[in-house]
Amino acid sequence: MERHNGYRDECKGCGSNYQVSSSDIDRMLAAPIFSRSDVCVSDDEYNARLQVCRSCPRLLDGETCSACGCYVRVAAKLKSKSCPLPGGGLWPAVTSEAASGK
Ligand code: SF4
Repeated sequence: MERHNGYRDECKGCGSNYQVSSSDIDRMLAAPIFSRSDVCVSDDEYNARLQVCRSCPRLLDGETCSACGCYVRVAAKLKSKSCPLPGGGLWPAVTSEAASGK
């Protein structure tokens, strides 16, 4: 597997110019929207999603999902997002019915 600047070169054809660092993702997650409970999942749900991603063979360099190109630490925060794998993926979106226990 070819590597550029420590990143694997197999995700959606993006070159190293498009790769972000872990600290770039930290800065994204500091945006006010990621503190909104109407937009984001609970910390428990977030950690559960990330635990699944961390054991998934589609995860590249601990940050990027090679199935959809998302940064998993960002995508897993959002209620509206789900794992993109076929058949419902490995973690679902949080619907209003699921959040209310219906
Ligand atoms: S979002 Fe799904 S396919 Fe992507 S790394 Fe996480 S578990 Fe794997």
